[in-house]
Amino acid sequence: MQIKFVDTIPRADSVKDGCLYISVKYNMTTHRCACGCGTMVPLPISPADWTLAYDGEHVSLNPSVGNGALACRSHYFIHDSQVIWLPKMSEAQTQIQIDADKAVLEQQTIPGSPLGRLVDRLRNFIQSIIKHF
Ligand SMILES: [Zn+2]
Repeated sequence: MQIKFVDTIPRADSVKDGCLYISVKYNMTTHRCACGCGTMVPLPISPADWTLAYDGEHVSLNPSVGNGALACRSHYFIHDSQVIWLPKMSEAQTQIQIDADKAVLEQQTIPGSPLGRLVDRLRNFIQSIIKHF
């Protein structure tokens, strides 16, 4: 895969096949599905999403790219800028991935977590306004 560091993610009509676009500024990557179906695959970079490793030459993304929601169901790693194919995503795997994503989201809103504390503060603020009236 070709690697391109960009300021902003390019528009879909200028995204070339076989090229991974990386915007460090916006913690975002995009590429066209490696199977050749042409679907855009935007991947956010964050501790809860994908992590990006760059050794000055090649890029690796973790975890794997599982396009279970696409018709092609392709599944692959991008490791050292190479596409390493994995067996296609089954419906069951796609559901597991959706559930895992939901669990991460719920984890982030548990009381005591940064987002949970924000939610608590908002809840208290709203209740104080309601009491006021
Ligand atoms: Zn595909």
